[in-house]
Amino acid sequence: MVDSVARTVGFQAGERNVFLHILTACNLSCAHCYINPEQHGSNTLDKETIAHWLDLFADAEKKSNLILLGGEPTLHPDLAEIISIAKAKGFSVTVDSNGYLHHDLLERTSPEELDYLSFSLDGPDAAVNDPVRGEGVYDVCVANIRRAIAKGFRVSLIYTVSGRNIEALDRMPALLDSLGVERFFIQVIGLRGESAKAGKGDLQVDRRRWFEVVPAVAADAAARGIHVTWPKVFLGDGEVFQCAGNVAENYFVFPNGRVYQCPLCEDYPLHSYCIKDGQLQAREGLTEKNFFSLDIAEGCVMNKLLQPENISYRDGVVENKISCCMLKQEMVGVTR
Ligand code: SF4
Ligand code: SF4
Repeated sequence: MVDSVARTVGFQAGERNVFLHILTACNLSCAHCYINPEQHGSNTLDKETIAHWLDLFADAEKKSNLILLGGEPTLHPDLAEIISIAKAKGFSVTVDSNGYLHHDLLERTSPEELDYLSFSLDGPDAAVNDPVRGEGVYDVCVANIRRAIAKGFRVSLIYTVSGRNIEALDRMPALLDSLGVERFFIQVIGLRGESAKAGKGDLQVDRRRWFEVVPAVAADAAARGIHVTWPKVFLGDGEVFQCAGNVAENYFVFPNGRVYQCPLCEDYPLHSYCIKDGQLQAREGLTEKNFFSLDIAEGCVMNKLLQPENISYRDGVVENKISCCMLKQEMVGVTR
């Protein structure tokens, strides 16, 4: 039995998601990397600082999800200990890795402490993945997915859809099925970091192609028992626009102390908060919060500013509102 109807995942009241970049260094240099050292810094947080910063976001009254990110978070020599610290503070912990699993992560943590280990892979084979993520990356990543699943870790996979790999997306469900991956996150490439630079125009995905390909692939993955999630992008008639900055608790935390609520703002000094002198401080002046309250016909203000070509009009009237980039759709397969 499979729930074959795509469901919109509404923003959850009483739930918070903390996306903590513990460093920005990485062993890879992906074509679409969104890390921007000018804006995000290049330092590595030590485990004492991380423990303190986690206290700033911990809330016993709420379900708190912690996603440990980089750069490549497994480059942090104390990652296993950081996972234990976060778990002890009540967080549900996910690590997002490029697949290299430095510092013997699988040997130094356990499926009891780490709720999800998430791998990024951008193709069903080396011929598609490696031109985007680097020579030899596919083989390393898939080998480590196998090792992680064999050791009992719950594994998810993130595929960032771009103009360079959308044609291969339909081969992913069979691969994930054969590997035993439980969750599949399909992402759309954003105009941030490397992908925003000139000469990377072939990374952007045509809207029509997105709709031709993505829902069918999601249905295939769900039919195989995989829980699949993908961005909503456009709102249908009667669907109400909501900005996550107003109705959800998402914190995107960088090692230089910047704390954003909207990932689309991360290339600009528009962060709502900063961590200074050990305190989480709301910032004065122009911040992303000024955009969250604007009510425009197109929906998301940041999309209108950064990606206006995604919006279409008929007789001067917007055809489909652009949803918040954090609004997702999902299909839950239950055959596993
Ligand atoms: S693995 Fe992640 S952080 Fe590293 S280069 Fe690729 S996108 Fe950037
Ligand atoms: S993506 Fe748009 S709607 Fe979502 S938080 Fe940012 S500004 Fe708000």
